[in-house]
Amino acid sequence: MVNTDLIILGAGAAGLMCAWQAAARGLKVTVLERAKRPGRKILMSGGGRCNFTNLDVEARHFLCENPHFVKSALKQYSNWDFIGKVIEHEIPYHERDLGKLFCDDSAKDILNMLLLECEATTRVNLISQCDVQTVDKPKDDFLLQSNKGQFSAPQLVVATGGLSIPSMGGGEFGYQIAEQFGLTLLPTRAGLVPFTFSDAAGKIFESLAGIAIDVTLSNERASFSEAVLFTHRGLSGPASLQLSNYWHSGETIHMDLLPSLDARAFLLEQKQQQAKAKLRSLLRDLLPKALIKHLEQLWWPTESDRAMAEFSNQRLEEIARQLNNWVLKPSGTEGYRTAEVTLGGVDCRQLSSKTMEAETQSGLFFIGEVVDVTGHLGGFNFQWAWSSAYACAQALKPA
Ligand code: FAD
Repeated sequence: MVNTDLIILGAGAAGLMCAWQAAARGLKVTVLERAKRPGRKILMSGGGRCNFTNLDVEARHFLCENPHFVKSALKQYSNWDFIGKVIEHEIPYHERDLGKLFCDDSAKDILNMLLLECEATTRVNLISQCDVQTVDKPKDDFLLQSNKGQFSAPQLVVATGGLSIPSMGGGEFGYQIAEQFGLTLLPTRAGLVPFTFSDAAGKIFESLAGIAIDVTLSNERASFSEAVLFTHRGLSGPASLQLSNYWHSGETIHMDLLPSLDARAFLLEQKQQQAKAKLRSLLRDLLPKALIKHLEQLWWPTESDRAMAEFSNQRLEEIARQLNNWVLKPSGTEGYRTAEVTLGGVDCRQLSSKTMEAETQSGLFFIGEVVDVTGHLGGFNFQWAWSSAYACAQALKPA
């Protein structure tokens, strides 16, 4: 039996950060990881360069049943705190669009930093390929049975992540522990995930696979002005991934193909100025040729040879409305297989926002993605992992 001050379940972003910070405060920490190696999602994140945080991090960048929940942890450990560590470790990084920060070289740099800091404390014992079968609290301590023996500690941090990409360690175990100790779970669904289509629009997207354009993608809950990428199955790219967090099965979404243009004013003006031009040639500076061809077949198939002057104003207004507001109905999403995150999870209304401790069970903490907190695309999910882990570590008690 291994007795320790703290057991952390899961050596991902949140688990490793918590181990580092708790050990730095003097705690003896055992981290139990089911996979062969720690931090696999960190390695595959951001296309292998890990978008580790963002220059602008606020509560509005997170989805959560309690929108104020994230504020305390983000204040205790901000994006600037993490950036400071990245600089201290001399990890080269750069800024991309919308304040996203990526490693110049490799996501490995971030994982190595976490592992080095854990090692430096000499108080973190990381045990991989550890399959925990049961978690109990017979008396004051948590008792865990696993294929690597028994572990006990007065404090248990659950950092098992979400359900996305099951081959990368996603699983139900963290949620089961929450239920076992009386916490409520909020329904889970795949987030930051491409949309799929099975209708005529899907056929168009399939034939445009690989082309990306800047649009505004919206529904009644949210709106994102970023790129969409057409795929063989539907729509991906930042705008689609972002909106998927706010979409529910069966709902429509709206694509503004000309987000910086009032299409109505543009077409009516062009009718005056370029009376002989064809509608498709006027759109050529604004949209990819292959897309225009499909839009023509969809919205003005019998009028494709007309000159602008031959269109009634009413007809141009109809086409303009579609250009600025293409109503689409996804058949679904690609699901957990490709989702970057899991929405829902452990109800944060039963956790302390200051410490991440369960209100129903002292000594039990939940951090990172297992909690019902999901960030927008752009480094926010890792920032939540760093911040929630740090906040938790400050509340843990040394022996
Ligand atoms: P995880 O990092 O998933 O770690 C959980 C750990 O727990 C895993 O190591 C898992 O093996 C282990 N585990 C699970 N069950 C058990 C068990 N029963 N016993 C023991 N161990 C267990 N976010 C960003 O902010 N920026 C990005 O660039 C970015 N890119 C991404 C790219 C991809 C392809 C994916 C899938 C996600 C990406 N994310 C990104 C999201 C980000 O990876 C997660 O939000 C983050 O990893 C969550 O950290 P976590 O520690 O809570 O969970």
